[in-house]
Amino acid sequence: MGRRSYVKAAAVCAVGILTASGCGGGGQEGGSGDRLSVVTGVYPLQWLASQVGGDHVDVENLAGPGTDPHELELAPRQIGSVGNADVAFYIGGLQPAVDDAVSSQGGDNALDVADLVELRTLEENAGSSGHDHSEGEGGHDHGHEESGGSADESGHEEGHDGGHEESGGEGGHDHGEFDPHMWLDTERFTAAAEGLADRLSEIDPDHASDYAANAESVTGTLGDIDTEYSEGLAECDSRDIVVSHSAFGYLAHRYDLHQISPTGVDSHAEPTPARLAEVAETVREHDIGTVFTEPLSDSSAAETIASETGAKTAVLDPVEGVAEKSPGDDYPSIMRANLTTLTEALGCS
Ligand SMILES: [Zn+2]
Repeated sequence: MGRRSYVKAAAVCAVGILTASGCGGGGQEGGSGDRLSVVTGVYPLQWLASQVGGDHVDVENLAGPGTDPHELELAPRQIGSVGNADVAFYIGGLQPAVDDAVSSQGGDNALDVADLVELRTLEENAGSSGHDHSEGEGGHDHGHEESGGSADESGHEEGHDGGHEESGGEGGHDHGEFDPHMWLDTERFTAAAEGLADRLSEIDPDHASDYAANAESVTGTLGDIDTEYSEGLAECDSRDIVVSHSAFGYLAHRYDLHQISPTGVDSHAEPTPARLAEVAETVREHDIGTVFTEPLSDSSAAETIASETGAKTAVLDPVEGVAEKSPGDDYPSIMRANLTTLTEALGCS
């Protein structure tokens, strides 16, 4: 349990001793009545932890509302709370500040989503071959030949044959080659929910059945969203999504869309003018009518592309946070709003 809980319990017991006392032991593991503490650095994990933990868990998101989690920096107090939490629930590689805090704090309480689900690389997500929903694949599941499709610093040897050329490679490689935006894949997100439920049950076995039931409920919600996406995006005039940073690779892969991004996985990478021009050219060639911006991070690249090509803009939210002005939104409502945006922009019937 969290330090704050200990303090509270101690105070209550100090008084209680005078009267009667059910204050045995103070620090009983998983003591019922006390809430576990989970600390996260990004909204989707905050949402997931709240759902799975229910009434038994207090969840702290280190990134405040309305902030872009990619640029998260931690105050000393927050680094301390990473160490003190019962579970530090994070996605290794998404936020260097959180990765550093976990390792500097010892990491015994760490639960890295990258250890629960297999993350895909940008390259794998860029090859939107779709229809591969297997976990644990060995990496040779892509029928597409990767001709000139490699990302990374190797330049842009893309052809313009409508192949899967976009790598979003330049600029943002400080997060490694894995795409951390796994919450946009409902199946992987489900696996993360189950992994968290298992961890909470180990720490707090008295409530294991609650955690399991909560995880099952989340699974149902995510399954519903997945079905809505599969159906909603089955027949579309276009499958190209031009976005402002490469956050949608999992979603694109899962529903056979084609993500085109001027930057990499880091929302703060500056696209090069050459790359912007390339994306604009693709927009013209493919007659793409809508370019997607984001609510929280800088979308000037997408706006530039739109204004140069005459495309419209629409907001496609990578669910990296919830804006302060829309506190009623949550993961399911944002995902469903995104689906509406996509079906309208892509001409899905
Ligand atoms: Zn992102």
